[in-house]
Amino acid sequence: SMNIKKITTGSRNLDELLGGGIETKTITELFGEFGSGKTQICHQLSVNVQLPEDKGGLEGKAVYIDTEGTFRWERIEQMARGVGLDPDEVMKNIYWIRAINSHHQIAIVDKLFTMVKNDNIKLVVVDSVTSHFRAEFPGRENLAMRQQLLNRHLHQLMRLADIFNVAVVITNQVMARPDVFYGDPTQAVGGHVLGHAPGVRVYLKKSRGNKRIARVVDAPHLPEGETVFAITEWGIRD
Ligand code: ADP
Ligand code: MG
Repeated sequence: SMNIKKITTGSRNLDELLGGGIETKTITELFGEFGSGKTQICHQLSVNVQLPEDKGGLEGKAVYIDTEGTFRWERIEQMARGVGLDPDEVMKNIYWIRAINSHHQIAIVDKLFTMVKNDNIKLVVVDSVTSHFRAEFPGRENLAMRQQLLNRHLHQLMRLADIFNVAVVITNQVMARPDVFYGDPTQAVGGHVLGHAPGVRVYLKKSRGNKRIARVVDAPHLPEGETVFAITEWGIRD
C-alpha cells in the first residue's frame, strides 16, 4: 500500500534483503539462537527510527517492551553517536517498558493503542515476544493454551501496526540445533512464532566473529537469499 514506510537497519545488506528496511504496517519477527543479534537490531531500530526520512528514519519515537531485561541505555548512547544524533535526545524518544510477565506484556500492548494515537511513535519492539509465555506455559500439555494467548497478543500487535502505520518488531529465541525439537514448533529452527500470520520472518545466525547471517523466510514479496551484516561498537553495519 502507498503509505508503507521503511526504517533502515544500519546495514545496507540487511536493508536490501528486506526490500529497503523494516516496514511499517507490518510485524517483523527476528528469530534465531542466543547471541544472533536480535536485541542489537532492536536497539539499532529504536535509534534509527528517529533519523530524518532521507537518512532512513521516520523522525518518530520508539516503544521498547523488554521482557528479558536485556535493554541497555549505554548501548543506545553508543548507537546514537554512531549515527550522529544527540544521545540525550535519542534516549528521550525511547519509551522503555519492562514487562514482568505475560499478563503484563498483554496489558502494555492494549494500553499502547491510546499511547500511539497521541504521540509520534513509529516503532514498537517486543523483545522477546515468547519468553514469558514459554516460562509460564511450559511443556506440551500447555502448548495449545500458550499458542492461543500468543496468537491473540500477535493479533493485537498487527492491529496496532495497521491502524497507526507503525513498524512492529518482535524477537523469538530458537534452539541452535535443528535436530533438537522437543515437540514445540516455535522452538525449532524455522519454527517462527508468526506461523502463517502476515508479516516478515528474519532468521538470524551467528557467523565468524562479529558477523551475522540473515535470511528472510516465507516472504513471497521478497527475493530468496541470505546476507551478512556485522555487530560493531557503533551498531549494526555491513
Ligand atoms: P540475541 O539474539 O540473543 O538477542 P544480541 O542481540 O544480544 O543477541 O547479540 C549479542 C551480541 O552482540 C554479543 O555477542 C556481541 O557480539 C554483540 N554486542 C553487544 N554489545 C556490543 C558492543 N557494545 N559492541 C560490539 N558488539 C556488541
Ligand atoms: Mg536478546
